[in-house]
Amino acid sequence: MTNPGRCLCGSVTWEVTAEPQSPSNCHCGMCRKSHCAAFATYWTVAHADLRFTGGATNIVLYKSSASDLLTRAFCGACGSAVPNGDDEAWSVPAGGHDDGPVPDPEIFVASQAP
Ligand SMILES: [Zn+2]
Ligand SMILES: [Zn+2]
Repeated sequence: MTNPGRCLCGSVTWEVTAEPQSPSNCHCGMCRKSHCAAFATYWTVAHADLRFTGGATNIVLYKSSASDLLTRAFCGACGSAVPNGDDEAWSVPAGGHDDGPVPDPEIFVASQAP
């Protein structure tokens, strides 16, 4: 399978080539602020199962002072969240894809927006 993803302006594009793992809706305060939305849907994808197909040099990284765990990645032209990787895997913002698994579970619901 090949599941293409892209940012809003289309300058950053990527492909996921395996079934995404751990599809979840994250309600944590950082995801809410980062996406300016009630929650953010993320997948976990192994390093080998994602490749950027365009615009990787347009990616800007933001390390939140609220968490040592996560560096956010976004398109420097349009601001869309794009996949960010750590030592273990990619975190893929599912909204950049037009198809994918139904998210389950809801996580960090203690922080959810009213
Ligand atoms: Zn963009
Ligand atoms: Zn979150």
